[in-house]
Amino acid sequence: MLDADFFRRWMTVAAASVDREADRLTALDAAIGDADHGSNLQRGFRAVTAALEKEATDTPGAVLTLAGRQLISTVGGAAGPLYGTLLRRSGKALGDAAEVGTPQLAEALRAGVDGVMALGGAAPGDKTMLDALIPAVDALADGFAAARAAAEAGAVATVPLQARKGRASYLGERSIGHQDPGATSSALLIAALEEAAS
Ligand code: ADP
Ligand code: MG
Ligand code: MG
Repeated sequence: MLDADFFRRWMTVAAASVDREADRLTALDAAIGDADHGSNLQRGFRAVTAALEKEATDTPGAVLTLAGRQLISTVGGAAGPLYGTLLRRSGKALGDAAEVGTPQLAEALRAGVDGVMALGGAAPGDKTMLDALIPAVDALADGFAAARAAAEAGAVATVPLQARKGRASYLGERSIGHQDPGATSSALLIAALEEAAS
């Protein structure tokens, strides 16, 4: 079972991973966006870890809700509200259970992904974070390693796609041939689950 401690570890590992990969995320965004994805998420996840140190979070749902709130309030642009919605919705779906299993986590993330789709209007194949998140949530029933592999494959599979949402869509066909920054950071977030569990 996964308790609040595990979820705090998930967010801390994700923050460290975003720190480590910030330059790469920004370089990907420089190719098809405005070169701020790494710094946006770095600012956001630093705020998440700071808030988790300051505020008590007794349940998995409380951890994700707090993290989502921080991302919304500190990250501008597209990714802040979208990632914030993902985590806040997922947190809300977990309710006030003290411990949750992987099936409940998968169900909660599914609700979060639905929130991202409702807010951003993107569908699978539009070359967004959804192209990593959806396969990851689908694979979660087979464990964190499977989810991680699915997210990474989903991120790589955005390379040949033409962007239909967000800034990259302004490039039209010129967005083809580049990996989507948001799908790449989503793969980091999912990979952090496996590291938090180990
Ligand atoms: P901005 O584009 O405002 O500078 P970021 O660079 O931080 O924001 O984030 C860009 C990422 O956000 C994209 O790579 C994409 O994955 C994701 N994104 C953009 N628009 C949408 C959308 N409508 N739905 C889902 N994801 C989106
Ligand atoms: Mg950007
Ligand atoms: Mg921007």
